[in-house]
Amino acid sequence: MVRPQVLIIGGGVAGLCAAIVCERARVSWRLLEAGERVGGRVSSRTVDGCTIDHGFAVLLSSYSEIARFIDWDALDVRALRASARVWTGERFRSIAHPLAHPAGGAAGLFSGLLSMRDVAALLPMALGAAWGVQIPDPNARRGISTEQLLLKRGVSRELMDSFFRPFFGGVFLDPTLGYDAASFAWRLSMFARGRATLPRRGMGAISEHLQRALPQESQSCLLLRRGAQSIESDPTGAGWAVMDSAGQNHSVRQVIVACDAHSARKLLPSLPARRWCRTVTMTWRTKASSCPAALRRPELLLDGTGRGPVNHAVSPTSVWPDHAPHGESLVSGSVIDRELCELSEAELESRCRTQLEGWFGSTVGEWTHVATERIAHALPRQHPEDLALRPSMCHASGVWIAGDHVSDGSIEGAMRSGRLAAESACAALRGA
Ligand SMILES: Cc1cc2nc3c(=O)[nH]c(=O)nc-3n(C[C@H](O)[C@H](O)[C@H](O)COP(=O)(O)OP(=O)(O)OC[C@H]3O[C@@H](n4cnc5c(N)ncnc54)[C@H](O)[C@@H]3O)c2cc1C
Repeated sequence: MVRPQVLIIGGGVAGLCAAIVCERARVSWRLLEAGERVGGRVSSRTVDGCTIDHGFAVLLSSYSEIARFIDWDALDVRALRASARVWTGERFRSIAHPLAHPAGGAAGLFSGLLSMRDVAALLPMALGAAWGVQIPDPNARRGISTEQLLLKRGVSRELMDSFFRPFFGGVFLDPTLGYDAASFAWRLSMFARGRATLPRRGMGAISEHLQRALPQESQSCLLLRRGAQSIESDPTGAGWAVMDSAGQNHSVRQVIVACDAHSARKLLPSLPARRWCRTVTMTWRTKASSCPAALRRPELLLDGTGRGPVNHAVSPTSVWPDHAPHGESLVSGSVIDRELCELSEAELESRCRTQLEGWFGSTVGEWTHVATERIAHALPRQHPEDLALRPSMCHASGVWIAGDHVSDGSIEGAMRSGRLAAESACAALRGA
């Protein structure tokens, strides 16, 4: 095997983007991936003819990194509606992005979810997020929580609890509104400027497209089931020696550690310990003909009561009917409360079903449970004190850190971090 110039550890979105950047710069690379496949947290699987994503996730059309790596047309995406229905205890109430769905936005004014005070508080926020000259910096840290920001802007407690908490709770996988106001502002702007989309072949198609962007002849540089076990400075002093799980020693000039924060710290113990948000996504199948009307629209349903366990639900087949066998529909419900996520699968499934029976009626009892995705390390928490712990991209001379824990807990953040780390490694090689 030819000695590469750059060794990439981790084949998630960040690591794959780093490999693409090296390839385009004609810098030789090798990627070690501990798992059986690339993609990390962005993957899909097929269960009994149903496409099941690794937790409910969406790709925002406003993300700027995607176009650098993936052809949107080839990915074939469809958008969800830029609106949501909020369960407030006795019925669903609508809220819509006023610029994307003006009629829905106007109807929302009368749904009882928004007070006039909320409208006055939200309008400048929504207009700034959609049309502001400057897009907020995803790497910024404001030092105050989103709850503090919303209070300052005059948003009522009622709207915070019924809409912001479940909607952005689903985005950050964190029910607390404690995430940093700067991370929130960037996300709000991404939602205001783009649409939430789902790829035809599931979210895993994103990782497949990234892998395919690497030329066929370079695929042998991608080593699966090869976890890195240690990183030491090379005894010759010329670079770094990385030992993998097959006992092979890789001697390289530049290393990009593109693992999740938890795994990166095992390799580089001086990295700070990060706190994690977790989630469980349950998927059921039902006859399409008996699928509740509220689930037939490609729209997010939110638990505005805070009682859970399901925080947000959606029918993936309302976007892509072929995610289930002909004549069937899928329903996915995600839990983000830490304690509820710890319940046994049977207990949690039964509690979710009871809750959804309250939303949709007794037909829920006929749904068949298809899959449970339990993800303990889903997203690094993004409270102000967590963001202060973000590592810098340059860990040591020739060792670069990539991954969503470096910038922002999103596909966009992971892509950007992989690109920047690889650009820096390539520049360091050119300068050497
Ligand atoms: C349920 C869920 C919903 C989400 N929703 C959204 C969403 O709607 N929109 C959005 O933009 N983002 C979303 N995200 C976040 C997004 O998926 C992640 O931020 C992003 O995928 C992180 O990519 P990464 O490459 O940084 O890390 P990972 O995907 O974790 O990849 C790291 C890779 O490193 C490998 N690895 C670990 N240790 C080693 C080792 N020692 N040696 C070699 N390989 C190793 C792992 O096996 C893995 O493949 C969601 C995440 C989850 C879990």
